[in-house]
Amino acid sequence: MSNRVVKNEAEWRAALTREQFEVTRRKGTEPPFSGVYHDCKEPGTYRCVCCGAVLFRSGEKFDSGSGWPSFTAPAAGDAVRTEVDSSHGMTRTEVICRACDAHLGHVFDDGPGPGGQRFCINSAALKLETE
Ligand code: FE
Repeated sequence: MSNRVVKNEAEWRAALTREQFEVTRRKGTEPPFSGVYHDCKEPGTYRCVCCGAVLFRSGEKFDSGSGWPSFTAPAAGDAVRTEVDSSHGMTRTEVICRACDAHLGHVFDDGPGPGGQRFCINSAALKLETE
C-alpha cells in the first residue's frame, strides 16, 4: 500500500501520549466508559491517532452500551485489516490500521447493521475531525 506509515518504537513513544502508545502500539485496552468518544455523537471523521488515516465515520457510529466507540463498518473496506487474537484466553478478531499497524480494537459479529459487525474501538486510537 502506498500510504504506509512506519516508525520505530521510540518515534511512536515520542509522538503519542502514554495511553495512546499503550493501546495502539502495545495492544492495550482503555477501561470502558473512560475514553473521550464512547458517548460522542458529533458528526465527523475518526482518523487514526498514529498516522491520520481515515478509519471510521460518525454515520456508522452507534451506541453499543459497551463503553467503547462502536461502529457498524469502517470508513472504507481497506482502511483496516484484521487478525485473529488469541490473547487473554479468548479468540477474538483484532482490528488494525492498515497504514501503520496500530491496534485499534476488536470486531464482533453481533452488530445491529446489515453487515452484522460491531467494531469496538478504543477512543485512544482515534482522533475525531468534526465537520
Ligand atoms: Fe494508522
